[in-house]
Amino acid sequence: MNLHEYQTRGLFEKYGVSVPPGILATTAAEAAEATAKLKSDLWVVKAQVHAGGRGKAGGVKLVKSAAEAQAAAAGMLGRNLVTYQTDAKGQPVNSVFVTVGVDIARELYLAVLLDRSAGRLVMMASTEGGVEIEKVAHETPEKIFRETIDPAVGLQPYQARNLAFALKLEGDQVNKAVGFMLNLYKMYMDTDASMVEINPLVVTKAGDVQALDGKVTLDENALFRHPDLAAMEDLSQQDSRESEARKYDLNYVGLDGNIGCMVNGAGLAMATMDIIKHIGAAKGAAPANFLDVGGGADEAKVTAALKIILGDTQVKGILINIFGGIMKCDIIANGIVAAAKAVKLHVPLVVRLEGTNVELGNKILADSGLPIITANSLKDAAEKIVGAIGK
Ligand code: GDP
Ligand code: MG
Repeated sequence: MNLHEYQTRGLFEKYGVSVPPGILATTAAEAAEATAKLKSDLWVVKAQVHAGGRGKAGGVKLVKSAAEAQAAAAGMLGRNLVTYQTDAKGQPVNSVFVTVGVDIARELYLAVLLDRSAGRLVMMASTEGGVEIEKVAHETPEKIFRETIDPAVGLQPYQARNLAFALKLEGDQVNKAVGFMLNLYKMYMDTDASMVEINPLVVTKAGDVQALDGKVTLDENALFRHPDLAAMEDLSQQDSRESEARKYDLNYVGLDGNIGCMVNGAGLAMATMDIIKHIGAAKGAAPANFLDVGGGADEAKVTAALKIILGDTQVKGILINIFGGIMKCDIIANGIVAAAKAVKLHVPLVVRLEGTNVELGNKILADSGLPIITANSLKDAAEKIVGAIGK
């Protein structure tokens, strides 16, 4: 789960990571009022969306008066912001964050993330802040510095000092940055984050060190331990198909193909997507989603899953691929028939059942009076659905 910048900054403040003061606004008038409350002659109006790259996309505006702040906010609110990190539709801007503008001397980068190959956390820093870190990593990897953290003792002050010196910080800035890094690491651990990133971390013209932008990704498996953080979830920033699926405890990932898939078991779901892609390639067919309905998929769950798949306007056909192991095929078939009757089936549906009571299951589908196409192998199923959508 991702947090908004303003929520991340709230955490930074709590953990002693210095940020310029700011106020959240949901209307242009509130943005203008915010400038009156934040004493300064320069402010920044920032679109709050779950995506980076806002600066280049017009989602970060420096303003010098209340009127300019109002105009900048009015230009962002109620629209979708498209950045290099979003899809073509962009992310809806429902609020803007107004901050005191900072005179920047240097833009740096700082992050805590998981290095999967080392099986440890790393603190990563770079002198090239404010730009895409992937680009820095690709073009000038020597400008990225890393300290691998031993989980038994946590980030050590000497490691933070190494990074501070690598960032060419001087004098008092070194101590400030070291404090900053230790606090950021503590925040990462306390919140069960999977990524915390500050880009840019700036040295101001006055010599101070501050976080101007923050991104936090929380580990959803640990959210039950943090009801306060879980409450920060913003469904408007998520794929609506995925939010709907989460309500029914369905393991769903939205993709951009045209064949909706419903499968039990993640491995079988992956295999199903692979074969659709393989057989469908020539006809431009591809999976519209990953969906694992789980071992104990009952009628209610199958109905909810079918509704989500059918609600996806890009879906031109559906492939249900179920292995009746724990659950018998006749029970699954009854569930599919009931679900298909409950929703309006406007696209071809291919069902492949395998396992216990498969003959009975197929008979139930055939006798249902519904235009369900049955298949007897994974390949057969993929060929049938790819063939059916072409008609
Ligand atoms: P992002 O583009 O979504 O990563 O948004 P950021 O919050 O990182 O802002 C993008 C860029 O705007 C930063 O890299 C800075 O160059 C600039 N910026 C943001 N806040 C300030 C500020 O207070 N003062 C100045 N001068 N520039 C800022
Ligand atoms: Mg940024």
